[in-house]
Amino acid sequence: MSPVPMLLGCLLLLYLSEFLVWVRSDAWLFRRRGRGWEALTQGGLMSSSRGSLHWVYPVPQLGRAYSVRTSPPAGSTCSTALRPSIDTAFSVVEIGRRYQGVEEAFQTLRWTSWCLWGLVWVMCPLLLKFLGLQSTLWILIAGTLIFMVANAWILARAHSKIFSESGDERLRLVLSACLSPLAAIRSLDLAQKQALDGFHPLAVAAALPGFQGWDDLAAAEWRRLRYSVASESSASSAIPVDAAESAEVRAAIEVLARRRGIDPAHWDSPPRAEDTAHTQYCPRCRTQYTGQATRCRDFRWTALLPISQ
Ligand SMILES: [Zn+2]
Repeated sequence: MSPVPMLLGCLLLLYLSEFLVWVRSDAWLFRRRGRGWEALTQGGLMSSSRGSLHWVYPVPQLGRAYSVRTSPPAGSTCSTALRPSIDTAFSVVEIGRRYQGVEEAFQTLRWTSWCLWGLVWVMCPLLLKFLGLQSTLWILIAGTLIFMVANAWILARAHSKIFSESGDERLRLVLSACLSPLAAIRSLDLAQKQALDGFHPLAVAAALPGFQGWDDLAAAEWRRLRYSVASESSASSAIPVDAAESAEVRAAIEVLARRRGIDPAHWDSPPRAEDTAHTQYCPRCRTQYTGQATRCRDFRWTALLPISQ
């Protein structure tokens, strides 16, 4: 194999690796799917108790992803969403405003991002074909340096304006954008990863345009809160543990559901038996059981409910 295709192949692999996103286990990841958005709460390419690795579309802007923690810890570094009240956490209008505000603040980065993208994926193959490796390298180095400096400067300025308290995160973003042009292409999207943190994930899902599957996610979350087990492991994507807070969150989810034309009463109604032998079900995860079962396997929920035949 000649060195040129090998070089481009290595570049492509490095580029694709930039579009993998790590998400903590206590957060939901929102990524682009088709024309809309989808939420990922588990699974991924690789996962452990600390988090999971997911892919996003390998194109600037379409590679946007938001990480939204289910419970922001005290002293959260998220500037405008510092431990918001339930009303703020569930305010679809507020989320829309923030989404737009952050998008506009980083708008200039689109230029540097797309210029670097064009330099690497359009100019580089053309120059290699017509000018040879040595001349191409000189032109590429000069071009990427100019755009990378501009990118880092715009990134640092916009980030300090929007996320003034996230100094460490800013330093990490700017440093990685200074080290590689491929990482600099990602600055536009990675800088916005925490933009919606602090809001409730279900409200974020309701606010994102073209979001699919809100009903199922909301139903699962509502049941998880309604039938929460005190001894439940904190590793699972646990939102609040306090009973009063849990009831408040459930009520807010119900309000959101009604606004979307969904009747939350359906979430708690008994399912139809999938098999004639199934006479009980777990109200929390909806798994069906025969008459002999005494508790749910998945969540150790003991009070199984009867299925009306
Ligand atoms: Zn269950």
